[in-house]
Amino acid sequence: MYRSIDPIDRVYRSLGVRRPERALPSKGPPVPAPVLSRRDLDFLLYEWLDVEALTSRDRFAEHSRETFDAVLDLSADLATRHFATHNKKADANEPRIGDDGRVVTIPEVEAALDLFSKAGLIAGGFDEALGGMQLPTTVLRASMAWFQAANAGTSAYPFLTAANASLLATHGSDEQITTYVPPMLEGRFFGTMCLSEPQAGSSLADITTKAVAADDGTYRITGTKMWISGGDHELTENIVHLVLAKIPGGPDGVKGISLFIVPKYLVNADGTLGDRNDVALVGLNHKMGNRGTTNTLLNFGEGKYTPGGAPGAVGYLLGEPNKGLAYMFHMMNEARIGVGFLAISLGYAGYLQSLDYARTRTQGRMLGAKDPSSPQVPLVEHADVRRMLLAQKSYVEGALALGLYCSKLVDEQHTAADDDTRSRAALLLDVLTPIAKSWPSQWCLEANSLAIQVLGGYGYTREFDVEQYYRDNRLNPIHEGTHGIQGMDLLGRKVVMQGGAGLALLGETISATVDEALARGGDTALYAEQLRASVERVGDVTATLWSTGDPSVALANSSVYLEAVGHVVVAWIWLEQLLAVGDREGGFHDGKRAAARYFYRFELPKTGPQFDLLASLDRTTLDVSPDVL
Ligand SMILES: Cc1cc2nc3c(=O)[nH]c(=O)nc-3n(C[C@H](O)[C@H](O)[C@H](O)COP(=O)(O)OP(=O)(O)OC[C@H]3O[C@@H](n4cnc5c(N)ncnc54)[C@H](O)[C@@H]3O)c2cc1C
Repeated sequence: MYRSIDPIDRVYRSLGVRRPERALPSKGPPVPAPVLSRRDLDFLLYEWLDVEALTSRDRFAEHSRETFDAVLDLSADLATRHFATHNKKADANEPRIGDDGRVVTIPEVEAALDLFSKAGLIAGGFDEALGGMQLPTTVLRASMAWFQAANAGTSAYPFLTAANASLLATHGSDEQITTYVPPMLEGRFFGTMCLSEPQAGSSLADITTKAVAADDGTYRITGTKMWISGGDHELTENIVHLVLAKIPGGPDGVKGISLFIVPKYLVNADGTLGDRNDVALVGLNHKMGNRGTTNTLLNFGEGKYTPGGAPGAVGYLLGEPNKGLAYMFHMMNEARIGVGFLAISLGYAGYLQSLDYARTRTQGRMLGAKDPSSPQVPLVEHADVRRMLLAQKSYVEGALALGLYCSKLVDEQHTAADDDTRSRAALLLDVLTPIAKSWPSQWCLEANSLAIQVLGGYGYTREFDVEQYYRDNRLNPIHEGTHGIQGMDLLGRKVVMQGGAGLALLGETISATVDEALARGGDTALYAEQLRASVERVGDVTATLWSTGDPSVALANSSVYLEAVGHVVVAWIWLEQLLAVGDREGGFHDGKRAAARYFYRFELPKTGPQFDLLASLDRTTLDVSPDVL
């Protein structure tokens, strides 16, 4: 029956929504300016990463370029019409606790999320058996980027829910999957991740939340979790918390951490909701940005509620005891790439807004223009403004390409034809994850700062969106492992694991690009030479840092290492993009050439002094006494 239907209509039917009329002028309220470039996404997905080729794999066999396009069209449409339209309002009206103790959010949040869920987008990547569409991760990330760019706060709920459901679908028991995953994929339940505690943020070894076994096979959880995004609200029937806790008597530190499913309302065997679980909202955190997402302090088991007639939050052990952090890493790794995308999306939205502004705002005249009565020129005519725009373009387009490259590695890891390709993809992804999280969080935030600068005084006002993008983006170097923690992960774990196999694979992969670029000649070959020298420095400096055998010396400047290696990786990604551009003409391709040139002239050289500092095994940060700071 399906076969006779236009494939694009088919995907819309499976999504359960009306196909948007792409070419027609918008209906309803005015549609805000685009927050992402569809042309760039098409280039990256189809002309560089060749995601269409994934449709030859069994898992994606039902898909085609048309279905991928339909999902992207739908995402752009929903994001611009229903998410971007309440971005400022949600920022100005942050969630609050009402007189009845319930969390109040503006109605547009629920309406937009309802559309998102009904469109089947939470379920997009999941198995058909679970009601999903089995879309490639690469396409889904591109789809989600529209929502993240349009409205960081509202997009966080489905983002967390899909990652939570993915962990459950992979590690949960059949019963746990049946109970929690379909309602989350339908958007009836939302999900959270509860790791942090007031006294334990970066150091999860020090969590104190306790899980005591009850007679019926469940556990009673007591403890306090801090910073929990989406931790309480009335947007859905239920909230599924994934909670890290320690079972008394278990090993110390991270080895004694287990993972529990703790729903806000217990779920009966027939799927209906039962008792209110003992999870109490203590308060909402008042944030600099990302205000649309509730952020909560939660008490588990304080006795405010008595599920089954007794205090203590009822929790269900997920998988085996004491392996909780390993399971949680399933969600954390997904969330780390996703946080990178959030940073990218906000950077991209700011870039496009400042570009539009620079093209329309006139100010001053060109150097040498003597006649004060001659018309003023648009800002974009000034070289220094172009510098700021090129910098943003090189950061956001470079980061988007990196994020999509990593997403393609996820698809390779799960669906490549042979074991060797799958395990190489997994290894490369492991090394790149801290960079895919941290590099956009640093440089797309810098892009937002430059966007404000391009708008001058207007950029510093709430009349424009760029100040909010900056505030929203400032979160990203903090959560999901701070910048510092990612630096230690990269230098302390990822580049030394398996005898350095991950770093060697990264070097090999970049070298293959370098060889291809050298063969092309011209500027591409010049950049390739520059990149080859930088990659050699990465190898040499890594060896030097570990040569003393003293981790405190090696890791003292690991953030600098993360930043330098991140720049080298993004330079490689720019070379990859240049190879995909080839000799093609036109504004889009010339723009890619200009941004690549900017990155190689202005950015990659910054790594020289960073590598020099690292190679000197500098001890400034180790030697300085805390007393003199
Ligand atoms: C808006 C928001 C949303 C969040 N959402 C969630 C969520 O949904 N679920 C959840 O579980 N958590 C969440 N978090 C918590 C977040 O993951 C933590 O804030 C983060 O892990 C850092 O912990 P901390 O705030 O306690 O800072 P700390 O761990 O105290 O770190 C402070 C500073 O010290 C540095 N530092 C810490 N330890 C070391 C070390 N060993 N070596 C070198 N430097 C170090 C850090 O890099 C950082 O710069 C959220 C946080 C925010 C702000």
